[in-house]
Amino acid sequence: MVSWLKGSGCCGMAELEGPEYGKADFVLLDEVTMEQFLENLRLRFSQGRIYTYIGEVVVAVNPYQTLALYGPPMVERYRGRELYERPPHLFALADAAYKAMKRRAKDTCIVISGESGAGKTEASKYIMQYIAAITNPTQRAEVERVKNVLLKSNCVLEAFGNAKTNRNDNSSRFGKYMDINFDFKGDPTGGHVHNYLLEKSRVLQQQPGERNFHAFYQLLLGAPAALLSSLHLCRDPSTYCYTREGAQGDVSGAGEDDASSYRAVEEAMAVIGFSPEEMGSVRRILAAILHLGNLRFTQEEEMTLVEDTSGVSVLAELTATAPDSLRQALLTRTVAAGAGELIEKGHSPKEAAYARDACAKAIYERLFCWIVGRINAGIAARGYDARVHGKSTVIGVLDIYGFEIFDTNSFEQFCINYCNEKLQQLFIELILRQEQAEYQREGITWQSIEYFSNEPIVELVEQPHRGILALLDEACLAAGTITDSLFLASMDTRLGHHPHYTSRKLCPTDKTMEFNRDFRIKHYAGDVTYSVEGFLDKNKDTLFQDFKRLFYNSADPVLRAMWPDGEQSITEVTKRPLTTGTLFKNSIVALVENLASKEPYYVRCIKPNDQKSPTLFDVERCRHQVSYLGLLENVRVRRAGFAYRQPYHRFLLRYKMTCEYTWPNHLMASDQEATQALLEQHGFQDDVAYGHTKVFIRTPRTLVRLEQERAQL
Ligand code: ATP
Ligand code: MG
Repeated sequence: MVSWLKGSGCCGMAELEGPEYGKADFVLLDEVTMEQFLENLRLRFSQGRIYTYIGEVVVAVNPYQTLALYGPPMVERYRGRELYERPPHLFALADAAYKAMKRRAKDTCIVISGESGAGKTEASKYIMQYIAAITNPTQRAEVERVKNVLLKSNCVLEAFGNAKTNRNDNSSRFGKYMDINFDFKGDPTGGHVHNYLLEKSRVLQQQPGERNFHAFYQLLLGAPAALLSSLHLCRDPSTYCYTREGAQGDVSGAGEDDASSYRAVEEAMAVIGFSPEEMGSVRRILAAILHLGNLRFTQEEEMTLVEDTSGVSVLAELTATAPDSLRQALLTRTVAAGAGELIEKGHSPKEAAYARDACAKAIYERLFCWIVGRINAGIAARGYDARVHGKSTVIGVLDIYGFEIFDTNSFEQFCINYCNEKLQQLFIELILRQEQAEYQREGITWQSIEYFSNEPIVELVEQPHRGILALLDEACLAAGTITDSLFLASMDTRLGHHPHYTSRKLCPTDKTMEFNRDFRIKHYAGDVTYSVEGFLDKNKDTLFQDFKRLFYNSADPVLRAMWPDGEQSITEVTKRPLTTGTLFKNSIVALVENLASKEPYYVRCIKPNDQKSPTLFDVERCRHQVSYLGLLENVRVRRAGFAYRQPYHRFLLRYKMTCEYTWPNHLMASDQEATQALLEQHGFQDDVAYGHTKVFIRTPRTLVRLEQERAQL
């Protein structure tokens, strides 16, 4: 037997892994201090035990190596078991969520958090794999199809939504929440993916050493020669402005083979149900973006021209649009001149380049959303009738970007970090609420405990009329006259008093911020300095109606379907569309509401080092993560009440041999009475409470002593 399964007897508790592996649950620490927490995490990581509990929360450290933890034998070990019967594992958590869903018809969700590279996406995939492995014992064809599509959807989403960054070779540049629907038998019948804020600025530009989205390199390096030539592309990514950075030096294919990924993605798309025609359109759109990025503009006698006209005809061919209309959309914009009159205004070369980039970003974003929509069509629950099949239940899996603190933090980091504030708020509330609910259900008195509330920070960002997002929208409305630095000045005036907000103007001695450029938010995870450069632009996210109309009139049905708003004429587009910030806020508020309505399970991922090393445990990096994930608080909350709880029969099964009244079997009226007799004989009566179905033990020490009693026999 592999050593880490030691103690996995029928009712073994996780700490039975043995002291050499540290504590399997942080609740069992002698003292809840950062040092003890980190030492336990380090010890376990060094022995390949990457999972540890805090009650029912799984703390996972990225092992940066392939561990034999996920194969079919492991699935069997965890299938149908209770959380504490086996060493900590994602499978145990997935099983708990699955059981709650199946036995109690509860909608559940698994929230996976952690910073970039901490292992969230891998964890989400293992969880889905486990659920796929334990369902559909009767091999129903439709269920098999759904499972297959669900699993394959990850491959497609990663191709279009992931990229190599300096932190992670396969970094998700979008947030993902996936619902899996189950029928009354507990088998998957369908699902739905929600995507959040794709980092579309990556289409245009990447940091040194980073790449554009995988899909571009996969196409260039994986497509057959004939296909490439029909797309007017050559293999070399350095030919194209948008992929040039990613083609530099040792930025090889995200450590993987782009060509083989290309084939895997094609196959996955076919399984999901993309038609050959649709896949053709997707390739042409990717190619069009690459060609678009290479267009240059010059000025000749007041007129802006495209430098290389052949580029325009290639683009027109790929997008199935008329070359003249395309050229016009690239070089001019239509504006309303009052009284229903329209005039055409020529771009300067600089404006044309700006419009080109806005167009490239928009096409890619819409392509991504279209792909998500197409995946959703492939996994939509078919023919499910609640009246016939009973209530459908759901397990949601959230894999969303973690806190980001970079050297330069922009609008994207601001949105991502706001999202993390919201999720942290929910985490604390739900953990407390869950504890409280359990005590209530069991009829046990509970005193609420103090915890850090990040409400003021959330308010700073989202409060109507007063928060940063509202001020940003206000600035965007003031069109033309206002700049990023004026927006900063208005924040300084209106938010200067806020305890979580500061800037160089408000704190002139702080040289880590620049005048007229930076502001800082005291997040729960630490201070983050944001540069306001580009905030207005990214929030407004203008794309001229001329492009929308052009693509709406494309002869390519896929491209056309992506621009339903292209039908409107310029005079109809007077109503301002919602800004990026507001749309993001709305989507996160809806997400939080949705999560709050479900029974939550948490995976908190930790990145042990920045070198992707399987052996290095960087204490300072981990300390920071433990601190901002609020893990110590989590342990305290868990210990403030009762550290342990067990149904009476399970408790007796494990400890009945330590007491003469209960061994080999008790003769009392109930398991509760027997448990009471056992605990009183050991003198633990002051440290326990008796619920309707479970015994609650306040301090871990009592449990340790019970274990010692048992071991002495
Ligand atoms: P991001 O926020 O950038 O998307 P992430 O938290 O989703 O990051 P992952 O992509 O899941 O991070 O993990 C990064 C890399 O770490 C993986 O590509 C893989 O190499 C390694 N890794 C993560 N979890 C595991 C695991 N359980 N076993 C082996 N390797 C892992
Ligand atoms: Mg990820």
